[in-house]
Amino acid sequence: MKRVALLGATGSIGRQAIEIVESHPELELCAAASGSTPLDDVDAPLKDVGGDLTDLLERARPDVVLNAVVGFAGVHATLWALERGVDLALANKESLVAAGELALAARERGGGRILPVDSEHSALFQCLEGREPEQVDTLVVTGSGGPFRGRGRAELEDVTPEQALAHPTWRMGRKITVDSATLANKGLEVIEAHFLFGVDYERIEVAIQPTSIVHALVRFRDGAALAHLGYPDMRVPISYALTYPERAATPLRPLDLTSLTLEFSPPDTDTFPMLALARAAGRQGGSAPCVYNAANEVAVAAFLDGRLPFLGIPEVVGETLAAADTDPVRDLNDLVDADRAARAVAEGALAAA
Ligand code: NDP
Ligand code: MG
Repeated sequence: MKRVALLGATGSIGRQAIEIVESHPELELCAAASGSTPLDDVDAPLKDVGGDLTDLLERARPDVVLNAVVGFAGVHATLWALERGVDLALANKESLVAAGELALAARERGGGRILPVDSEHSALFQCLEGREPEQVDTLVVTGSGGPFRGRGRAELEDVTPEQALAHPTWRMGRKITVDSATLANKGLEVIEAHFLFGVDYERIEVAIQPTSIVHALVRFRDGAALAHLGYPDMRVPISYALTYPERAATPLRPLDLTSLTLEFSPPDTDTFPMLALARAAGRQGGSAPCVYNAANEVAVAAFLDGRLPFLGIPEVVGETLAAADTDPVRDLNDLVDADRAARAVAEGALAAA
């Protein structure tokens, strides 16, 4: 029996994870947590709404932590699992982006594994398994391009939260859906891939594949490329991470090749500057990815509240990156300070926007 602690149990990933756990006799929930939504309908011996996630994990003693919290709020749980050598099924990409170097050091000390749940990273993980780093040429992270693919800047001036939340291929929580519309999600994913797979930013490419069938590719030094295909359904990477290395069955239908359209194009980085800002923050290192993430969280919340136009999101993030101190991060206290300071700078940029 594998004991799963599910953090973010009331969210999009959390709900699908419960379905996966319930359908596999070898998985059981030992704990579930949410931020404020009650957990009355979640069947777990330990439950916590709005509490300290690491306290809950200490009591639950899980075999695997599925971190499906949204945002920087997931960072303590990520580090808790890695430090203790507990398997981390990671959906909460913000924690790895913000705390990348701390997370890798914690994994080194704890000896644990990160099993990516983000679909592109689950795909890369599978394409890379059993290969030596020197065999790898480039990683390609794919994306649908979001609801505004093909539009120019002028056509984005007045877009509403409702329009940004209408994602063409994936049904997800509100924050990541807006991130998909700005391409910040791909930016976060490039940084996530850098930390997960130890590949330089120059060798991590983004390609737009509108139907979200190809989740990622790896190009190898001999000219071969391996791609990962599947319908856009998060139950697959969730199940893969929770049942790794077994690859248990899921209720999905097999891929029907005759119905597929597979076209690729480069991302429009002029219209969607969040991708280039992420690469710059990643290359800068230190607390810069944490600053990028914090400013983005502030800007997305303001956009969803109707306090910031869509095009204001990259402006606030760019201004925050330019203004905030980006120091080395020695420990979790430094990181929490950097996150807090960046949020304050971003709130100032919002007020000026
Ligand atoms: P949702 O907004 O649907 O759910 C977020 C979950 O996090 C909710 O259960 C929420 O609880 C909980 N939460 C928020 N803050 C806290 C907190 N401080 N303590 C405990 N729980 C908290 O998000 P998603 O499920 O869409 O996304 C979750 C993560 O997975 C994100 O990092 C996202 O980027 C990533 N991801 C999601 C994908 C998807 O398909 N949805 C795909 C790939 C990655 P409450 O209900 O109380 O607010
Ligand atoms: Mg993804």
